[in-house]
Amino acid sequence: MRRKLVIGNWKMNGNRAANTALLSGIVAGLNDFGADSAVCVPAPYLAQCQAELEGTALAWGGQDLSVHASGAYTGEVAAAMLRDFGATYVLCGHSERRAYHQESNALVAQKAVVALAAGLTPVVCVGESLAQREAGQTEDVICAQLQAVLDALQAEQVARIVLAYEPVWAIGTGKTATPQIAQDAHRFLRNCLANKNAAAAAAVQILYGGSMKPENAKELMAQPDIDGGLIGGAALKATDFLGIIQAV
Ligand code: PEP
Repeated sequence: MRRKLVIGNWKMNGNRAANTALLSGIVAGLNDFGADSAVCVPAPYLAQCQAELEGTALAWGGQDLSVHASGAYTGEVAAAMLRDFGATYVLCGHSERRAYHQESNALVAQKAVVALAAGLTPVVCVGESLAQREAGQTEDVICAQLQAVLDALQAEQVARIVLAYEPVWAIGTGKTATPQIAQDAHRFLRNCLANKNAAAAAAVQILYGGSMKPENAKELMAQPDIDGGLIGGAALKATDFLGIIQAV
């Protein structure tokens, strides 16, 4: 039985005062909803998360990491630095990183490997654009994105990743995938995982991301292969984020 997991992706939002209000609002409302929860925050706020969340049920993580351990890589953040500030998760290959920073499938795979080696749980993001969906390429695209990661992992490491299916056309657009569209993609991804390691495929949490809100979360999370959500906009308001966790 897979536990549900809800992760907020703050993207490049927040400031210290607003973060304190948001984090304390979430923590105050967290109950035994039967789901794990986390926030992935801009790197400068990891210390704030560590100071304000340690000992609570809300975990935290980064939004990206470097493939390098240390050295002359200006602007990059190493996996060990994320660990140093208590991070549990790190997003790998979010579509905004792929689009605006030209992250290739191979680079994303390397990031997942580096994250695992540092003791972080990589949240590997895959998803097709609208043009790719309309051209009937959804499965080819998400399979290639996932396969690059699977090729880079040992079979026994597969169970230690989290996968997020985030159709690019649904991110920040208010257009949510229907539960059936999302379920079909999740089932397909689970079958791809099974080709590498069948036991691990049954254990990996596959999150849906793309305009998930309290109003549509219940129906999405009721699908057999949807194990939670990766939440952008709705993660910036405590009541919305809690509403999604509660929908589990
Ligand atoms: C995201 O950025 O990962 C995301 C799912 O955003 P939103 O919920 O705003 O669509």
